[in-house]
Amino acid sequence: MDNRLIFEKGSIGRKGYSLPANDIEESTIEDLIPERFRRKNRPGLPELSELDVVRHFTSLSHRNYAIDTTFYPLGSCTMKYNPKINEEIAGLPGFTMIHPLQPETISQGALRIMFELEGYLKEISGLDKVSLQPSAGAQGELAGMLMIRAYHKKMGNPRKTVIIPDSAHGTNPASATLAGYEVREVKSDKEGLVDIEDLKKVLDKDCAALMLTNPNTLGLFEREIRTISGLVHETGALLYMDGANLNALLGICRPGDMGFDLVHFNLHKTFSTPHGGGGPGSGPIGVKKHLAPFLPIPTIEKDGERLYLDFNRPESIGKLQAFYGNFAILVRAYSYIRIVGKHGLNNISINAILNANYIRKRLELEFFIPFNRACMHEFVLSAKRLKAKGIHAWDLAKRLIDYGFHPPTVYFPLIVEEAMMIEPTETESKETLDQFCDAMIAIAREADQDPELIKKAPHTRDIGRLDEVRAARNLDVCFSPTNRLF
Ligand SMILES: *Cc1c(COP(=O)(O)O)cnc(C)c1O
Repeated sequence: MDNRLIFEKGSIGRKGYSLPANDIEESTIEDLIPERFRRKNRPGLPELSELDVVRHFTSLSHRNYAIDTTFYPLGSCTMKYNPKINEEIAGLPGFTMIHPLQPETISQGALRIMFELEGYLKEISGLDKVSLQPSAGAQGELAGMLMIRAYHKKMGNPRKTVIIPDSAHGTNPASATLAGYEVREVKSDKEGLVDIEDLKKVLDKDCAALMLTNPNTLGLFEREIRTISGLVHETGALLYMDGANLNALLGICRPGDMGFDLVHFNLHKTFSTPHGGGGPGSGPIGVKKHLAPFLPIPTIEKDGERLYLDFNRPESIGKLQAFYGNFAILVRAYSYIRIVGKHGLNNISINAILNANYIRKRLELEFFIPFNRACMHEFVLSAKRLKAKGIHAWDLAKRLIDYGFHPPTVYFPLIVEEAMMIEPTETESKETLDQFCDAMIAIAREADQDPELIKKAPHTRDIGRLDEVRAARNLDVCFSPTNRLF
C-alpha cells in the first residue's frame, strides 16, 4: 500500500495537461501582474501526470468506509442506505443547471419542489409552516432559538434561559448560547427520561424554552411528553424538538400533536442523503402558527397557481444564508418521500425500531444495557463491565474496525458511562445485523481471553491508533517531509 501524500508524489515540472501550441502573442507574468501580487516562491503544489492523479484518488476512494460498502451503526446519525434513484433525480439538468438568481417565472418547477416538500414535512410533523433554509440540524436549532427570542420579545420579555436535558446532543446548548440564552440543565430520571420533578424546579418565568429530543438520545420515547408540554406552556415558555431522531416516528406520531411548538428536521438523516464528514446537509425548521411570522426570509408562498418568494415579512429573524437552502438535498428528500410514499415512510420507522430492538436483545446477555427496555430506533449499551480488564468503549470501537464494521457512536450520551450508541436503521438485513452482533460477542469473548488484542486494535489497517488530541489541536493536513507548502 502506497501511503504517501499527493505532495510527496510526482516531480517538479511534471504536468497533467497538454495544451495546443500558442497562436496568440505571448505576454509575460511581469507585464500582467504587478510586482506586489506576484509570489516569491513556487506554490508547492503537487506536480503529477493525469494518470498518477487518477490513481492517487481512486486508490484513496477504495479505502473509504461508506454505507455503500459496509454497515454503519453510528447512533444518532441515521446512516441509512441512500437509494441511487435520488442521485439520478438530483442530477437531472433541470435541477443542476438552475441558477438561484433566475426570475421566479422560470423557476416555478424548483419552487414547486420546495413548496411541496414543505407540505410533506408539515404533514409528517403536525406543524403549520416550514422553512427549508437551514443547512444542518444545528443551523435549524439556531433558527429556532432566534425565533423563540423574537417571539418572547414581541410578548414583552425575551426571557433568559433555555432548559436542556443532561442527555442532549452538544449542538443544543451551543445553539441556545449562540442565541444569547443561558442554558439550564434538567436531569434524567432512573428510566432515562426527563425527571419531571427536576423540571418543575428549573422551570420559571425566565425560561424561554425547553429543548427536547424525542425519542431522546438513549433511544427512549418521552412517555410523559404531554405532561411536560403542559408544564412548559403553563409558564409561557415554548417547547422545541430536536428532530434528529425523527426516523423513529414517521407515520406513528407527530411532534405537533405532542405539543411541540417548533421542530427541526435533519433531512440528511431521516430522508436519505449521503452524509458524514461535515456535509452536505439540510435542517429545515417547522413551526406552529404563532411562530410563523418569525421564520427566515424568504418564505415560499402561493398566489393562485403562481409560486413566489416572499421577502416582505417584517417580523422575520432575517436571512440565514445566501439563497434558499441546500437545494440538491431538498430534491433528494423530495424524491425519497415521493418514492416510498405514506406507507413506506411508516414502514421505515417500524423496521428501524425492530432492527434496533433485535440487536439490543442479542447483545443484552454480553453487555450491560443501562436502560434495558423496548427502545425506539437506537439504544445505548455500556462497556463499563470491561473496565476491570482495562478495556474501554474506545477499545471495543477500534476492535470492531478489524471485524470490518464502522464503530458505533461512543461516549455519547454523556450520562452513560463508557457509552456505545447503536443505530442500525431500517435498511439492514437480518444477516447483517447478525454479523454485527456476532462480532460484538466475539470481542466480548476476546476481552476475557486476550485483552491486549483489543487494547492494541485495529491490527488490520494501515494506520493504528492516532494521537487524536494532537491531531485536533495541531491540525497540519498538508505535512510533507520536504515541507514545500509552508
Ligand atoms: C445530528 C444531531 C444533531 C445536529 O444535526 P446536524 O445536522 O449534524 O447539524 C442534533 N441533535 C442530535 C440528537 C443529532 O443526532
